[in-house]
Amino acid sequence: MARVKVYTTDFCPYCEKAKSILSSKGVEYDEINIQDDEKLRDEIERLTGGRRDVPQIFIDGEHIGDDDALEALAVSGELDKMFNLEAQEATLPAPEIILPTAEITPPVLSHHDEKIRNVIIIGAGPAGFAAALYAARANLHPVLITGSEIGGQVSTTTDIENYPGFKGENAAELIQIMQSQAMHFGTEILFFDVVTEVDFAQHPFRIKTHESELFAKSVIICTGASHRKLNIPGEAEFAGKGVSYCATCDGFFFQNRSVVVVGGGDSAVEEALFLTRFASEIHLVHRRDRLRAGSVLQKRILNHEKVKFIWDSVVEEIQGDEKGVNAVRLRNVKTDEQTIHPTEGVFVFIGHIPNTEIFKGQIELDERGYIITDKRQRTSVPGVFAAGDVQDHLFRQAITSAGSGAAAAIEAERYIAEIEDRAYPGRL
Ligand SMILES: Cc1cc2nc3c(=O)[nH]c(=O)nc-3n(C[C@H](O)[C@H](O)[C@H](O)COP(=O)(O)OP(=O)(O)OC[C@H]3O[C@@H](n4cnc5c(N)ncnc54)[C@H](O)[C@@H]3O)c2cc1C
Repeated sequence: MARVKVYTTDFCPYCEKAKSILSSKGVEYDEINIQDDEKLRDEIERLTGGRRDVPQIFIDGEHIGDDDALEALAVSGELDKMFNLEAQEATLPAPEIILPTAEITPPVLSHHDEKIRNVIIIGAGPAGFAAALYAARANLHPVLITGSEIGGQVSTTTDIENYPGFKGENAAELIQIMQSQAMHFGTEILFFDVVTEVDFAQHPFRIKTHESELFAKSVIICTGASHRKLNIPGEAEFAGKGVSYCATCDGFFFQNRSVVVVGGGDSAVEEALFLTRFASEIHLVHRRDRLRAGSVLQKRILNHEKVKFIWDSVVEEIQGDEKGVNAVRLRNVKTDEQTIHPTEGVFVFIGHIPNTEIFKGQIELDERGYIITDKRQRTSVPGVFAAGDVQDHLFRQAITSAGSGAAAAIEAERYIAEIEDRAYPGRL
């Protein structure tokens, strides 16, 4: 029996992330899928002091926590020490989950490779993979740094129905296709490495990650966006104990329970619909008196028998006890009336913030933190391009992100040709 146990459910991208971190380190684990097993679900809650989220990881019987906790162990080097892996540190095999087609061997970088790269792409969502595909097909041998979420936000949903040409079974399949296509043409991928610092004042640009320091003639930023938090009392305290940002991961814990979904956009509605598979009833709390979600989604949810709407209201506090969440305090924004609404789960989908913290002071951002780009995906620093949600608060779609990623790669190729004073190869 392996020293590591990973408790998972079926639709859980964070479980895939945890498993991939372990695989990339060559650590064997036993996976226990609790999807259809209520006894195991209760066991997990008991063993973790009331956690209602997955993955939950145990090493030698000790509860480590979720994927973030495991990632922190990996980044700090603690995991290596626990499994005596320091000697094997030099190479990271590709993770198990998203293997390309059999005949392709994923190229893997040495951690201390100081060669100057043509293009470094930061981010592994639709924008990053599209940029990688185009840059690789232009023979630029791009390096793509995935960060902690392969597939980006797409990996946090189940279905993608509006990506032209893709009629696959689920979002994970789309990510697999994107990744293997990028690798097929020669993209080098640094799996689960995270960029911690950039220096765009020098050229070649310097990119520091948890694992290495790299230099590049051009950089394409595709770091996307992350979910916004409510920042209210109780939210942090009950995170994982009833507060969740991923219905597909944690919905199973709320079988026959009453839950609250906060938000009124596409994500909130999609996730609420997913929760109808498990929860007995869903109360969707929205600060306005109508949904912002697209009409197809609205049609699906407005007449759903399990979904009730609490309009013109915001959640001001999440309350609970040692067992987890048991209520939310709501305020009607029109009347100011406050009510206590009993619930066992709070799923938060109130929008996104761009992942641009590490670029502050290096390139121009707008007042909301989005990277400012022109129509050619150029940022304020020549040679640095940005694509996808990190520079787009208007469309925020997989297809628009992929489109801008492709455009950024074409521009990066032009830029390199220009600074090297050679003809634009025009291979794209
Ligand atoms: C629940 C949900 C459902 C959705 N459904 C749909 C849908 O049906 N159709 C649709 O078209 N769109 C949908 N979207 C939107 C779509 O997923 C996004 O528009 C798209 O993923 C944005 O792509 P991106 O490549 O710009 O960024 P993201 O997908 O956000 O990817 C960002 C990438 O950057 C990486 N990263 C971040 N910081 C760092 C760092 N410091 N170092 C290295 N890497 C880093 C992350 O690991 C990740 O790989 C949905 C979004 C959500 C949340």
